[in-house]
Amino acid sequence: MRYQRPRGTNDILPDETPLWNRVEETFRSLCKRYGYHEIRTPIFEDTDLFTRSMGEHTDVVSKEMYTFTDRGGRSVTLKPEGTAPVVRAYVENNLAAQGGVSKLYYITPIFRYERPQAGRYRQAHQLGVEAIGSQHPALDAEVIALAMHFYREIGISRLSLVLNSVGCPVCRPVYRERLREFARPFVHELCEACQVRYEMNPLRMLDCKREKCRALLHDAPDIIDSLCEECRAHFDALRSYLDALDIRYVVDKHLVRGFDYYTKTAFEIVSDALGAQNALGGGGRYDGLVEEIGGPPTPGIGFALGIERAIIVLKELGLAEARRETVDVFVAALGEEAVQPALQLLQQLRQSGISAETDYQRRSLKGQMKLADRLGCRITLMLGEDELAQGVVTLRDMVTKEQRTVERETAVATVREMLSG
Ligand SMILES: [Zn+2]
Ligand SMILES: [Zn+2]
Repeated sequence: MRYQRPRGTNDILPDETPLWNRVEETFRSLCKRYGYHEIRTPIFEDTDLFTRSMGEHTDVVSKEMYTFTDRGGRSVTLKPEGTAPVVRAYVENNLAAQGGVSKLYYITPIFRYERPQAGRYRQAHQLGVEAIGSQHPALDAEVIALAMHFYREIGISRLSLVLNSVGCPVCRPVYRERLREFARPFVHELCEACQVRYEMNPLRMLDCKREKCRALLHDAPDIIDSLCEECRAHFDALRSYLDALDIRYVVDKHLVRGFDYYTKTAFEIVSDALGAQNALGGGGRYDGLVEEIGGPPTPGIGFALGIERAIIVLKELGLAEARRETVDVFVAALGEEAVQPALQLLQQLRQSGISAETDYQRRSLKGQMKLADRLGCRITLMLGEDELAQGVVTLRDMVTKEQRTVERETAVATVREMLSG
């Protein structure tokens, strides 16, 4: 084959798009119910936006970004995640001026130069929300409730919610030092990446996937014990709200999330159908991000959920029945003479809200009937020599196989009656 899709990307074919649409439409309708409004940001941004917000020493920024210099000599990056662009748009368009909490949602492709493996793609797709303008833990609870509700609504109910607090600029540096102290005796036994993390971003050692690192860091001090009073109160309140909403969770001190901008709440949603390494999605609070990007100090919280991963789990659970949409009516034209009136009939049907299809490959009547069956048509309208001469069409009920003749002028009305009956 001469051309192939780029490594790590997918073609989402017509057999699968109905499933994608179901997932996306469920998300849209839930967001509406929770009071979130859609935002769409560009596919690429200034590279600096991502390095600044996610942190230079995160894997995504240091190894995985699709960064290039455009013809004007600017460094731009295909968005590797959805939060920084939304926050950039929030600041640039002064959404704060609308007052209250800005509750935004998005559906977007993201781009990361990953080693392709199950559930990881170089172009992946995410559903996400960002709620900007309140530091109240009730908002954290709402955001988490929305994510869990979404999975339940698409049919994935056996999930674990993993929760942690990553502290704030007051208490995190203290914890960072405690963690360094703990790791100092065995830092040279850690993987190369963790040795860099030890210097630059020690919290990230905690979510290293390597067995050796996991074992060495198993008894690392618990960040919860280092939280300042404010962070602890926030975490306790969130936990009590989740309890009140009957949302079960486990606290995992090793959950730190990938990016530097997280503060306080961090969470992930894990399905055993995906294997241990892959969360379906996650999120957290980012109280310093708006300011970091150039806005006034404004707290926020959000999540991003992987669409591909949700679809893998739906398939695993046998809930991914992806059937193509059916067509209501087939118009069978027999002979060249019938083509023009058939086209007119098609147009009338479609304009009155009925889906309709015809044959463009000069099939025989038998062949056209087969096609009508394959498309799931309930009715076929036949136009042949006799029908043309008499100004009528033959109408065939594809279920009962009954046929009758109707005036061409009344055909659309008859079809509509049959379909609604
Ligand atoms: Zn704190
Ligand atoms: Zn490691």
